[in-house]
This record gives sequence, structure tokens and C-alpha cells, in this order.
Amino acid sequence: MTYKANKVIPLADTRYASRMPSVPAQLSAPTGLLSDALGRPLRDLRISVTDRCNFRCSYCMPKEIFDKDYAYLPHNSLLSFEEITRLARIFVAHGVEKIRLTGGEPLLRKNIEALIEMLATLTTPEGQPLDITLTTNGSLLAQKAQTLKDAGLQRVTVSLDGLDDAIFRSMNDVGFPVADVLKGIDVARQVGLAPIKINMVVKRGTNDAEILPMARHFRHSGAVLRFIEYMDVGASNGWRMEEVMPSAQVIERLHAEFPLTAIDPNYVGETAGRWRYADGAGEIGVISSVTQAFCRDCNRARLSTEGKLFLCLFTNQGHDFRALLRGDYSDEQIAAAVGPVWQARGDRYSELRAALPADTIATDGALKRVEMSYIGG
Ligand code: SAM
Ligand code: SF4
Ligand code: SF4
Repeated sequence: MTYKANKVIPLADTRYASRMPSVPAQLSAPTGLLSDALGRPLRDLRISVTDRCNFRCSYCMPKEIFDKDYAYLPHNSLLSFEEITRLARIFVAHGVEKIRLTGGEPLLRKNIEALIEMLATLTTPEGQPLDITLTTNGSLLAQKAQTLKDAGLQRVTVSLDGLDDAIFRSMNDVGFPVADVLKGIDVARQVGLAPIKINMVVKRGTNDAEILPMARHFRHSGAVLRFIEYMDVGASNGWRMEEVMPSAQVIERLHAEFPLTAIDPNYVGETAGRWRYADGAGEIGVISSVTQAFCRDCNRARLSTEGKLFLCLFTNQGHDFRALLRGDYSDEQIAAAVGPVWQARGDRYSELRAALPADTIATDGALKRVEMSYIGG
């Protein structure tokens, strides 16, 4: 059976437009060498396992929108662990080497360890293990780190926007104490979920005073602290350019206290610019998604909780792979459907935004962009 290409399927539980991928009549097997319309390979798959979260960070899930009446996905919409693993296996055959579990808050997904165990059995066509990681707000990390490690998770990224308890509580907007996240980071380190990365979203005027205390705290710890520019993702965070602190200014501030040297990226497509403390205290990173677009090497695809594939963080159009998973399709047919989707990809939102005057960029405009909590960071 073959679906018509680019047919738009309106589903009752669907918040964003989605297209059912077409299954080519002639099936071609994955080669691991897919290339999109701008010559970019497919290497990194980010899988959102829940659209729910126990935090209400204003830059991601502002309380006013994500309130008790918000329509989260019903349980039967979520991909099961078997469905996620089946798709992941197909994407690995197409060249994916790294899988990041995200959300929402991924540790809220019941029995997430079972999914990690299943994903950990996958290998690349060359027989190499996958790089499996997870991004978490850290609230449940102290209690879950050991079971995550035992299940096969290799490392974690923990989001932490400051050390000052009042600032942290107000940024997560549910009054969650910073000490509990720090405890989670310690336990993760003790069980060997390393190297740990710490993500700090910097909002000018809100937590930029935390840049130096964070750097002081994580120097010599082995953890890599990464400063992220506040992005105009989604349609609900009321993003304004004035609140973005350009990475160049973050580096300037750090460099004044701790001299830094720029270092080469670990691999092509790495999102963070890397810097090393000149005194040997470790490494930091900056993710300059607003001021320095890195679309040229973007090799990431994102799978939403309900099985839609998004080719860019800023798109509003998904490709509904759940429809294929739950239809009568073989792995070969689904694999053959992935190729044309990636090959047609021309997304490069951040590059295009860089060419726009700042006052024309908004998140509350006409375009219903996909929310970060839905497809993950
Ligand atoms: N709940 C988990 C967490 O916070 O780590 C995983 C999901 S969260 C959407 C993934 C990452 O996206 C986090 O590091 C978060 O700080 C980042 N993020 C969310 N909204 C953002 C925004 N508007 N700009 C920049 N980063 C953002
Ligand atoms: Fe939750 Fe993470 Fe979004 Fe904060 S950034 S609201 S912790 S999903
Ligand atoms: Fe990739 Fe889209 Fe971000 Fe550019 S804007 S780096 S294409 S996710």
C-alpha cells in the first residue's frame, strides 16, 4: 500500500500539522549515507518521551499557558517503548549514531529505564554501540541515577539556571530547591554517568548574575557547563531579543575572571562552542543559537512524544511516523519512507532569522511553532 505524498492528516489529538510520510513503491534499503537538500547527514536523533514536566520554566512552559487545563497528550497517543525502539533501529540504519532522550521531563515517563535498556541493545551498522544520553531538569536524578546507569545510560545533561536558591526557584516557577538538583548531579557523578554536562539558559536581567557563581562552582568538577542563549522557540514564552545575552558577552565576563582559550569542536555539527580555562580547571561551552546560527552542520532530527518527526526546532510541520508504525507497514517500508523525508530537508531557521531585523522576530505571532516541551531540546 502507498500513501499519497504530503497528504495532510487532521487528527483530533494533533496540535501541529503533520504529513504522513509516503512509502515509495520501490523500496531501497538504508545505506547510512543520507544527505539532506543542503548536504547535511542524519546523525543525531532526539526523542521526546513525554510532553509533561514538573517545572514551569517561563522560557519553556510558562504557567499561564501550561496550567491545569492544558491538553497534554493522552496516554494512547504516546509511542510505546517498542514503537520508539523500532523507529530508532530504522534511524540507526540510516546513519544515526547518537540518541538523546528528552521531553518535557524524561524522568517522569514511567519505567524510562526499560526504554534505555532496549535502546542500549542497538548498534550502528559497523557494530559500534550508540551514544545514548538524556537531558533532565535533575529533580528526580538523585533517586534514579543508579537505575539509569544500570539500564545502559552513558551520561546525562542536567539543566540548571543558577545556584542562588531564590533565583532558581523563581525560574523553575514551582519553588523547586536548587540543593536537590545539586544532589542529583552529585549522585549522577558517583554512579559514573559521565561526563556530565550542565545547561544554563541565560536570560539577561533574570539570571545573568549567576554566570560567574556557576562557573566558580563547576570549575574543577569535571562537569562541562554550557551557557545557552535564550531562544525564540515555541509560541508561548513571549521571547524578546533584549532578554538574550549573546554568548560573546558571556565569554567576555568569564574571561575577565578566568582566562579562557578557544578549543576545536569534538565533531562536525557540535552545537556548543568550546573553551578551556587557561589554568586547567576544565572546559565550558556556549550555545549561540541566536547570535551565531549553526544550521550549516545541523544533523539533528527530533521525534515527538506522539511519533512525529520534526526536522528543525523551529518548524511547525511534523512527519507522522506513528501512522506508519500503527499501520500495516514493514520495517523495510518505514525505512524507505525516511529517505525522501530527510533528502527534502532544507530547514535553516536560525540562519534565516539572523538576516531579520530583531524587532520582527516574535514568538506570539501568526506562526504556531512547535513547543520545546513537545519535541524536546
Ligand atoms: N526537562 C528537561 C530539561 O529541562 O533538561 C529536558 C527538556 S528541555 C525542553 C531541554 C533543554 O531545552 C533544557 O536544557 C532547557 O533549558 C532548554 N530550553 C527550553 N526552552 C528554551 C529556550 N527558550 N531557549 C533556550 N533553551 C531552552
Ligand atoms: Fe520542564 Fe525542561 Fe521545559 Fe523547564 S526546560 S519547563 S524543566 S521541559
Ligand atoms: Fe538545526 Fe533548525 Fe536549529 Fe538550524 S534552526 S540549527 S536547522 S534545528
